[in-house]
Amino acid sequence: MTKVRFAPSPTGRIHLGNARTVLANWLYAKANDGDFILRFDDTDKERSKPEYARGIEEDLAWLGVKPAKIVAQSERFDLYDAARDELIAMGRLYPCYESGDELDRKRSRARAMGRPPIYDRAALLMSEEEKQEFEAKGRKPHWRFKLDGKPVVFSDLIRGEQTVNTASMSDPVLIREDGTYLYTLPSVVDDLDLGITHIIRGEDHVSNSGVQVEIFEALGGKAPVFAHHNLLSDEQGKGLSKRLGSLSLMSLREAGFEPMAIAIMAIITGTSLPVEPVASLDELAKKFDFSIISRGPARYSQAELETLNARILHDMPYAEAKTRLEKFDLANEDLWLTLRENLSKFDDIKDWAKLANGPITPIIANEDKDFIELAAKNLPAEPWDQNTWGQWTKELKSLSGRKGKSLFMPLRLALTGRSDGPELKSLLVLIGRKECLARLSE
Ligand code: GLU
Repeated sequence: MTKVRFAPSPTGRIHLGNARTVLANWLYAKANDGDFILRFDDTDKERSKPEYARGIEEDLAWLGVKPAKIVAQSERFDLYDAARDELIAMGRLYPCYESGDELDRKRSRARAMGRPPIYDRAALLMSEEEKQEFEAKGRKPHWRFKLDGKPVVFSDLIRGEQTVNTASMSDPVLIREDGTYLYTLPSVVDDLDLGITHIIRGEDHVSNSGVQVEIFEALGGKAPVFAHHNLLSDEQGKGLSKRLGSLSLMSLREAGFEPMAIAIMAIITGTSLPVEPVASLDELAKKFDFSIISRGPARYSQAELETLNARILHDMPYAEAKTRLEKFDLANEDLWLTLRENLSKFDDIKDWAKLANGPITPIIANEDKDFIELAAKNLPAEPWDQNTWGQWTKELKSLSGRKGKSLFMPLRLALTGRSDGPELKSLLVLIGRKECLARLSE
C-alpha cells in the first residue's frame, strides 16, 4: 500500500511552494489509494511552535487535504535514541569534539591548500583517553555519520536515475552538542517506522537523499522510492521562504482566493499541463502524474492566479456556492447565476448583489431624461421573465427611434448606476418591476 508523507517543520506558515509538495504527495496517494501522513519535524524546540503546527493543519484542511494520520517528531525521541545507539554500536556514528571555530579554521586551511573543505575525520583517530580528557573539561561531542564513500545511486520517479557522490561530502552531523537531533536521522527513522513507500519532496533535497539512503541501509532498511520535484519561485524567480511569509497559504486565503485556484497554481505551474480550472482535487488527481513535471523552474504568476480564480467562480455551480452565499443572506440561485460571471473574488458578490437588491444611485444624463421617462411609462406589467427585457426594449426602440448603445446604455446606467455588469435580461427580473420603476423615476 502506498504511503506518503508531508513533513514540514512548524517554524512558520506554509507557502505556495510547500503546497506543491503537499499536493504532489496528496494527489499521488489519491491516485494510488494510498495514505497521506502529516509529520511535524519539530525536533528544534526553539523554533517550532504549536500555533504554526495548528496553522499548517488549517491550511491543509482549507486546501482539501485530509491526512490519515498526524505525527510529531517531538513525541518520538525513544525511536531516534534507539537508532542512535544502533549506529554508534556499529561504528557508523562517531563523536567529534571540534568547536565551530576549529571547524572554520580547518575549512579555511583546506581551501588555502586547494582541497575541498570536507571534514577530515580527525575525530575517528582520537584515543579513548583523548575523548575522556575532553569530557573531563566539560566538552560535549556532536555526532557524525560515517559515510561510505561510494556513490549512492537511486532512481527518482521525476528525475530518473540519480547519483550522489557522498565521497565529496563531509560526514553529516546527526546530533548536536546539546544532544538534539538535526533533521536527517529522525526523518529516516520515521520513514522506516511508518512504512513510507514514497518520499516526494523538493529537488533541494536530492543530496540529502543520497545521505539518507546510506542511513536507511545502515539501519537495516531499504530506502523508499524518491520523487524530487522542481521548486516554485516567486514572480522575480527567487525562492519562497517560510520565514518571510511570502505567498503563504494564509495570506492567499485572506486575499480571497479559492482553494482550488491555489491548488491548481501550486501543482500545475511549471508542468506540461495548462493552468486552467479543474473541478476538484479528485479530478486533479486524474490529470496529475510525475511525468508532467518539468525539470526547469516553475515560476509563479499573480496575473495567472487571478485569471484562474475568476474562471473558477464564473463556472461555479450554485450548489457549491450556496452555503457561502447563505452567510451573506444571498442564497438565491438566479442571483448567483446572473452575477457570478462578474466576480474576481467570491466576496465581490456582496457589491454586485446591490445591483439587484439596492441601494444603487441611478445615473440619468440630461439628454436621456425624456427617454428614461418614456421607458418608465412603458415598463411591462408583471409577471416578468427572461423575455421581458427583449419585449420592453423592442417597444422602446420603435417609440424612440433609438437603437444599439444609445438605446441600451441609458437604461443600464439608470437601472444599475454603472456602465458595465451582468446581462440585463436576467438582472431586470431580479430587480423587479417596483424597484425598476423607482430607479427610472429618480
Ligand atoms: N522538514 C523537512 C523540510 O521541510 C522535510 C523534508 C522531507 O520531506 O524529508 O524540508
